[in-house]
Amino acid sequence: MSEAFNVADIFGEDVFNDTVMQERLPKKVYRDLKKTIEEGKELDLATADVIAHEMKEWAIEKGATHYTHWFQPLTGVTAEKHDSFISAPMPSGKVLMSFSGKELIKGEPDASSFPSGGLRATFEARGYTAWDCTSPAFVRKDAAGATLCIPTAFCSYTGEALDQKTPLLRSMEAINIQALRLIRLFGNTTSKKVTPSVGPEQEYFLVDAKKFQQRKDLIYTGRTLFGAMPPKGQELDDHYFGTIRQRIAGFMRDVNIELWKVGVTSKTQHNEVAPAQHELAPIYAPANVAVDHNHLVMQTLKRVAGQHGLKCLLHEKPFAGVNGSGKHDNWSLITDDGKNLLDPGKTPHENIQFLLVLTCILKAVDEHADLLRESAADPGNDHRLGANEAPPAIISIFLGDQLEDVIEQLVSTGEATHSLKGGKLKTGVRTLPDLAKDATDRNRTSPFAFTGNKFEFRMVGSRDSVAGPNVVLNTIIAEAFSEACDVLEQAEDFEMAVHDLIKQYATDHQRIIFNGNGYSEEWVKEAERRGLPNISSMVEAIPALTTEKSVAMFEKFKVFTRAELESREEIKYENYAKAINIEARTMIDMASKQFVPAFIKYTKSLADTVIAVRDAGADASVQSDLLNEVSGYLAETKRALETLMKVTEQAAAMPEGGDQARYYHSDVVPAMEALRAPVDALEMIVDKEAWPMPSYGDLIFEV
Ligand code: ADP
Ligand code: MG
Repeated sequence: MSEAFNVADIFGEDVFNDTVMQERLPKKVYRDLKKTIEEGKELDLATADVIAHEMKEWAIEKGATHYTHWFQPLTGVTAEKHDSFISAPMPSGKVLMSFSGKELIKGEPDASSFPSGGLRATFEARGYTAWDCTSPAFVRKDAAGATLCIPTAFCSYTGEALDQKTPLLRSMEAINIQALRLIRLFGNTTSKKVTPSVGPEQEYFLVDAKKFQQRKDLIYTGRTLFGAMPPKGQELDDHYFGTIRQRIAGFMRDVNIELWKVGVTSKTQHNEVAPAQHELAPIYAPANVAVDHNHLVMQTLKRVAGQHGLKCLLHEKPFAGVNGSGKHDNWSLITDDGKNLLDPGKTPHENIQFLLVLTCILKAVDEHADLLRESAADPGNDHRLGANEAPPAIISIFLGDQLEDVIEQLVSTGEATHSLKGGKLKTGVRTLPDLAKDATDRNRTSPFAFTGNKFEFRMVGSRDSVAGPNVVLNTIIAEAFSEACDVLEQAEDFEMAVHDLIKQYATDHQRIIFNGNGYSEEWVKEAERRGLPNISSMVEAIPALTTEKSVAMFEKFKVFTRAELESREEIKYENYAKAINIEARTMIDMASKQFVPAFIKYTKSLADTVIAVRDAGADASVQSDLLNEVSGYLAETKRALETLMKVTEQAAAMPEGGDQARYYHSDVVPAMEALRAPVDALEMIVDKEAWPMPSYGDLIFEV
């Protein structure tokens, strides 16, 4: 689309949204569906038939030939199986287009090839997808034509969750129940529902597609496994918020148009810290819709990149030496009548309900820091968390001056009597306005920061689904609310009891608050002194899923059964092992077939040169020094390659599970680093013409 257009006209044009439903559905059917969406009332088949029929008619008008139940198995990406609308031919030889209520509500993909972590043996491979009517259906247009996409949850024959969405919906229900209990205690009798609202900010890299095709590491693993830093990195900070180049601007425009059409509220875009790195943020939405939309964002970025001769890299660490990518998960709790439970108001010290909510969150995050850390663990994020860029691997909470002061007052005197004010920011220029300052500055180094009326969980990996982190947030905070309500509902003197509880939670969990520099060495020591866990890798994070504490909580709030948690633990170990195995084998492949041959050729030409120069009676010392140096690194490369081949073979021969994953982490990863080192050193000294693939400089500075 190159002509001018009005966003308001195209926004949501391919979504079966409320307006479309109101227009097309009979009044009673519309009312019943709204009841299901808003109150979870069961939908009868007759009503579903009517909805399905209208949905199909609408989709066909949009050009759709197929429908798909769109779901989120534990592979990390979404899955879909397409069925066309055609029914069996009639005697006339023509076909009718049909779509029944049953087909809308329930699908049955062959589930045996999706990871189930032992939950479902292949001989009982049935899996079902169930319509999530709280996330609107939409028509997606791409090379396959137009397809009606129906967001669904994916469960086994016996009802166990095989996906990301089922536990997310369960956790949303859990926090809804507990948050309603809490606000009722404060006299709110009107709100009917509390929804966790999520706004995920998405970071990504763009590289030229032709250069991408010349890098097997990018093709197979999504990140570079070799590569020396170019003379310039991100040290000048000239890319961050920099002017967006025309090629990228054109890409962003098309991404926005595609997203707006399917109802994704793409709002903010800018260049990020690293060269070739960018960010996109939508406006927040109910958690399940936000998760669906984030998947659409990731898919759309990839698809549109292809149309612009670009490749979108969603990996957490595509390039060593410059920043990696993450996803900031902005989270708050909002009632159906628009009240945000995380809004402190102007004078937080007087806002008792807010202080209870806040201290419950302190408690939840402190008690389940290990689970929250686990929820952000994926193989790519091992390169970020704890390194000097993204949040550290230690979970702590940044509250800012104002709230930290209120907590301090509560802990020291039992009473909070005042709130720090923001004041005015004086620019010192008469023609510029004085700005009202927020009472709190930002802290970019904190993994979990309060930002005005929401928390921002900054650890999530850029490629990962935000479902997992939100399942954990919803559940741990539901638990804290529930425990507080258990006490307060029994209290004879509510005022006294709530006052005591807030003080107790603030005191017991103050250790989780940290407003300083999260990247510093001192913080690592200080956190250790405070007894906060510092979990530096995915394999060390995974066991948090199945501790007794975790199982008891998830079972109590009906988010996961023990069996589901154990299956997820198993899948995570497998995913880790597979990811590292692919990386190791890619390195072996590149080293054996590209680097070693290139170095042999290069040393041969150097050797020829040395002889020729000497024959001519000239000084060949420079050539011969270089030859020695290159030959030395070549020998090191060969040794490291052999070691990597050996440990990778050993790892692959182990039975799947925790031991295997830990072995990949402890032995294969270091062997990969040992192979990378001499190759990267060679890149600095070998003739660019002799290098068998595009360099970092080619990839990130010439997009
Ligand atoms: P910040 O400057 O704090 O990062 P932005 O305005 O850029 O905030 O918003 C970042 C993301 O947070 C956006 O996706 C935005 O919609 C989302 N967001 C804003 N308010 C809330 C809220 N109350 N709950 C959840 N997400 C929110
Ligand atoms: Mg932000």
